[in-house]
Amino acid sequence: MSTKNMTKKQIQIFFERLREQRPNPQTELNYTSPFELLIAVMLSAQATDVSVNKATDKLYPIANTAQSILNLGVDGLKEYIKTIGLYNSKAENVIKTCRILVEQYQGQVPETRKELEALPGVGRKTANVVLNTAFGQPTMAVDTHIFRVGNRTGLAVGKNVLEVEHRLVKVIPKEFIIDSHHWLILHGRYCCIARKPKCGECIVSDVCNWPDRFEFGAAKMIKTKNLS
Ligand code: SF4
Repeated sequence: MSTKNMTKKQIQIFFERLREQRPNPQTELNYTSPFELLIAVMLSAQATDVSVNKATDKLYPIANTAQSILNLGVDGLKEYIKTIGLYNSKAENVIKTCRILVEQYQGQVPETRKELEALPGVGRKTANVVLNTAFGQPTMAVDTHIFRVGNRTGLAVGKNVLEVEHRLVKVIPKEFIIDSHHWLILHGRYCCIARKPKCGECIVSDVCNWPDRFEFGAAKMIKTKNLS
């Protein structure tokens, strides 16, 4: 059975609950500037936030600007990030990106999608995270958690990441759009997990449309009125 799209009312309740649970959601990557966030997100591709934080906790006190990381060079940078997966190609891309930032942007991180996506190692997802988290723009970076939660719940059903991204930006009420990226990731990471979602303890199970939620413990007696 496929999942039905959530109604507007369901979506409103869904995000009100997630906001109540986490009033100030944050990325789990450590950063203190748009530049530090950009580099951390670049390093986090196919790696855990914990592993990235371990590396940047040592790197950033030594070098946390485009010029200072450029000064380290590829080999110098590798010493700090060699515990992270794909560190060879990530080091090359970070150094190339730092060079462009120094030469074209006075060391600052640009604030448009086009400029961000032109940087080596920066794809749509990374650009979306930086635009949303560092610059407060209403973008949606769809990772594996958000893709799953969107499709499973009926919040944003789509065949691929781009479809889910566009649908989310369209259906999420304005009041939630800035923080919704974090709420969805954290909900997917800790509750609506891939193999065994914790539907029995899920705070949005009554507005979720996933047909299998009852098999995973969602209470059948819960009814929320006026959801259409
Ligand atoms: S009820 Fe289950 S499937 Fe629905 S959002 Fe909660 S954890 Fe995910």
